[in-house]
Amino acid sequence: MLDAALLGLLLVAIAIGYGLGYRQAGRRRHRPNSLAASSQALSRDYFVGLNYLLNEQPDEAINTFINVLAVNSDTVDTHIALGKLFRARGEADKAVSIHQNLLARPALSQHTNEQIQLELARDFMALGVHDRAQGLLTTLLEHSSDEHHRYTAKQLLVDLLEREKAWQQALDVIQPLLKQHPKMRRPAAHWLCELALEKINEGSRALAKKHLKKALQLDDNCVRATLLLAELEVDNGHYARAIERLDNIPRQEITHVPTMLPALKHAYLRNNDEMGFETHLYRLLEQTPYTSTIIELGQLVHQRDGVDKAIELIGDRLRATPSLGGLDYLIDLYIESQRLSGKPSPDTRLLLLKHHTNALLLNRPSHRCQHCGFTSDALQWQCPSCRYWGTIKPIIGVEGE
Ligand SMILES: [Zn+2]
Repeated sequence: MLDAALLGLLLVAIAIGYGLGYRQAGRRRHRPNSLAASSQALSRDYFVGLNYLLNEQPDEAINTFINVLAVNSDTVDTHIALGKLFRARGEADKAVSIHQNLLARPALSQHTNEQIQLELARDFMALGVHDRAQGLLTTLLEHSSDEHHRYTAKQLLVDLLEREKAWQQALDVIQPLLKQHPKMRRPAAHWLCELALEKINEGSRALAKKHLKKALQLDDNCVRATLLLAELEVDNGHYARAIERLDNIPRQEITHVPTMLPALKHAYLRNNDEMGFETHLYRLLEQTPYTSTIIELGQLVHQRDGVDKAIELIGDRLRATPSLGGLDYLIDLYIESQRLSGKPSPDTRLLLLKHHTNALLLNRPSHRCQHCGFTSDALQWQCPSCRYWGTIKPIIGVEGE
């Protein structure tokens, strides 16, 4: 079966065929006899390449097409398309040779030259040779007057700096673009969070706070910045302020309520305010009955009023909003209740149920990227698959929250 890369090659083959046909038609019009032999050779090579392609021998096809193209210095677009295909096939080194050969040609227009430089930068990035890519992009930004090329170069440079974790440099590049491209505010806010974490590790809390406040100015819904600011407040003994900050999170992103619960609990308990925590949990449950909130409340009631009160509470809540995690916790409570009532061992039916919920919960992801669908069992602020920031959120529903 033809795969995507092969299909792409077929398209390139058609482009080459079209280019050759056009050139040969032109030659026939102007110089009927002069290039007949060479044209025949080109056509023969072209059809040999096509034959390789149709026989699913892409490497042989590519080599033949390169030979054909080498004779035709004006088929730059096809060269570029071929380079892109090599890169897509994971052979960026071959793409580099194609693009470097193209750049060596003296008669290129400024526009085409910049187009190839951008492709070459992409090749170097794919090869992990970031300094070469950065050099090309920086030079292009210094000399190009083409707005589209400048924007693409900035995007690539930002992507590169992000991979290098050069957060401040990435921010410097993106800053002038934020007004025109508000979508970039979210990643920029996360880079500020990354800078804040670096400052926290260095012991510069004041600087960290400054970065986090700036992050919220860029993206008012940056849950991560709010969480980090709340943690800083707790560290400074400002528990009420921490709780006030965390109280913004349901408005920023309701599905991150489970994410903020540990920080909320920490702030209340450090302030010796268990009642306050309980009231807050009830308030959160009124907004959204997430499993983590229900279990947190159950644990609180369990500790204070005993296991039977917790069973009553969790049972009621689960009737309204059933969830696998809640059921698993309820079974734990029943087992605990039987143990306390003096039974030598828990009911086997309960153990069987526990076995089933355990099996169902095992290896079940708790988080999913809203952009690409990547799943994981922990929160990550940047999706490792699509590299979007802030798109991984807790999974909501019977199997999740
Ligand atoms: Zn993703």
